[in-house]
Amino acid sequence: MSTGRLIIDLDAVVANWRALDAMTNCKTAAVVKADGYGLGSANVAKALFKAGVRQFFVAVAEEAAPIREELGPKPEICVFSGHMAGDTDVIRELGLTPMLNSVEQLTHHLETLPEHPFGIQLDTGMNRLGMEMQEWAAVAELALSQKPRLVMSHLACADEPDHPMNPYQLAQFKKMTDGIQAPRSLAATGGILLGPEYHFDLTRPGIGMYGGLPFAQATPVIELEFPVIQIRDVAEGEVVGYGNAWQAARPSRIATVSAGYADGIMRILSDKATLYHGDTPCPLVGRVSMDLLTIDVTDLPEPPKKLTLIGPQQNVDDLARAANTIGYEVLTQLGARYNRKTFGK
Ligand SMILES: *Cc1c(COP(=O)(O)O)cnc(C)c1O
Repeated sequence: MSTGRLIIDLDAVVANWRALDAMTNCKTAAVVKADGYGLGSANVAKALFKAGVRQFFVAVAEEAAPIREELGPKPEICVFSGHMAGDTDVIRELGLTPMLNSVEQLTHHLETLPEHPFGIQLDTGMNRLGMEMQEWAAVAELALSQKPRLVMSHLACADEPDHPMNPYQLAQFKKMTDGIQAPRSLAATGGILLGPEYHFDLTRPGIGMYGGLPFAQATPVIELEFPVIQIRDVAEGEVVGYGNAWQAARPSRIATVSAGYADGIMRILSDKATLYHGDTPCPLVGRVSMDLLTIDVTDLPEPPKKLTLIGPQQNVDDLARAANTIGYEVLTQLGARYNRKTFGK
């Protein structure tokens, strides 16, 4: 195989879910949108289902298909984007629970799929998805009379524990939902870490299960290593890669590895990323190309066969920091070309 190897540890995903579950006294669902944050939603959901998870969340209805196919009719699969006009057939056929985001969606749902389960998403200040205070006030009685499975909202700043937006959204959520019979949910990974006031009846972790911040105690889930295709010695003053972007300041040894921006190694990492051979850091030099990276391996005692980008020496968030982004983006950009080895339950 001349493509990178992406190793995915499903036992670690399950361990992280259990650790997050143990922080609350309520139910814990699992968010598997964007193909399980890039790691394979069917495999991830299967492992979590075996561990006892019975409620999953996806962003859009289509994302539920591989999960329903893998797990059958038992688990509840909820859709954050709600019930869009073209979604009715998929929602019915796959037995999905849309989180209705507007009066329009509520009306459409009750007209097209009466008796079909649904939830409600409220906006408590993020201004992204969900019914606002006044809208909710107008339809709450009708919606609640149809027994929603869940009433939820989402925190905008939960990864910053001291942000005043957190207590503000908590207060808004309570104001909009105190006294209702339906189960309530406010917390994703960050909200779980904010403490019990934020937990309500159900939490919805995503990134923490996949080993990312803000869950700092998470067990790492992935490793990513690249095969070396070619090694060459360059003299002082020679240049490497597109744009001649790097010039050797000393006689150097350059390893060319198989991975590039087409595999989710963002071009902004040009001249910035570090790969590892065992514990020895090897800097990426020159530009990231579509399919190749050039790495300075001058300081290694012998020519390497492979180099590691994500592993014990550098986790997903370390790499994200170097790329000026977040672990969520690194994970969801992981390419389709990798030789994926998924192990665990
Ligand atoms: C993505 C998402 C989650 C999961 O968030 P994490 O930060 O990954 O735990 C939960 N709820 C909603 C509405 C989301 O969009």
